[in-house]
Amino acid sequence: MSSRHPQSAPRLDPAKFRDPRVTARGEPRAAVALAGLRTLWFNTGTLCNIACRTCYIESSPTNDALVYLTAAEVAGYLDEAEAAGQPLEEIGFTGGEPFMNRDLPAMLADALERPARYRAIVLTNAMAPLRRKARALLALRDRFGPDRLILRVSLDHYETAHHDVERGEGTFAKALDGLAWLAREGFTVHVAGRAAFGGEDESTLRAGFAALFARHAIPIDPADPVALMLFPEMDAGADVPEITEACWGILGKRPDSVMCASSRMVVKRKGAARPAVVACTLLPYDPQFELGATLSEADRPVPLNHPHCARFCVLGGAACSR
Ligand code: SF4
Ligand code: SF4
Repeated sequence: MSSRHPQSAPRLDPAKFRDPRVTARGEPRAAVALAGLRTLWFNTGTLCNIACRTCYIESSPTNDALVYLTAAEVAGYLDEAEAAGQPLEEIGFTGGEPFMNRDLPAMLADALERPARYRAIVLTNAMAPLRRKARALLALRDRFGPDRLILRVSLDHYETAHHDVERGEGTFAKALDGLAWLAREGFTVHVAGRAAFGGEDESTLRAGFAALFARHAIPIDPADPVALMLFPEMDAGADVPEITEACWGILGKRPDSVMCASSRMVVKRKGAARPAVVACTLLPYDPQFELGATLSEADRPVPLNHPHCARFCVLGGAACSR
């Protein structure tokens, strides 16, 4: 994902998104309660093997603002979710590059072997860190089958140049090679692309990806919005309306359709004694979205007090999973 700043976009009114209770116009701000924890994300750490120009979480080979989670810490949260009877279906791992964390295979095995038969999804750039874990990945595939383990590979665009300008020269070829290897080995693969590259409309983008997938025997249906997820650009400085309680009725949208009604993310900040639970994957650093140390502490309403809440979740409809 990214945080581009198109100069043409009107800039955000600084009076907006100041008070979690009310909007700049004094109206009650919308909040979203946890309707049931269905997806639990773990940020395994912000370190990454590359430094993309517009990485929304500012990952790089040196940024360890979010440090590596351990398999024991992940197990503690899975235990808590199980004990609380949460309707958990999916365990997500994001970074940074999750395969930089040496505990990732153990975390995946833990998620996949639990009796609830969770799905596990890893967001990866499919480059060297993933390839170094090839043997462990193949062992997971052999033990659990390919259906419940999904590797979502970031491929910004179907052409080399657009991807490489964001991620560094030669990165497209390496990511594509990793994606093709995963496909050849029978893993379930998805691709995360970007919706706003080069001014192309969605059907042009999907057609471009379709041709790429066909050339490399990658079994992804390019029309499937989850298997080929095209993310909108993230510009927290661009103007966007605030979401009031009245908006739900005006928009005909239900609060429980928003990601933070069904998911949370665990992060571990550098220097912190223990991990923390934040409202969602989109806002890992903003302290007002840190909800507590445990899942039960984090079971409370989230005021939609950030431009991302309005742009992606309520007005734009970005979805992170099925
Ligand atoms: S590969 Fe992903 S996590 Fe790493 S720098 Fe690029 S966008 Fe950020
Ligand atoms: S960006 Fe805001 S509305 Fe969207 S999931 Fe995160 S906290 Fe909820």
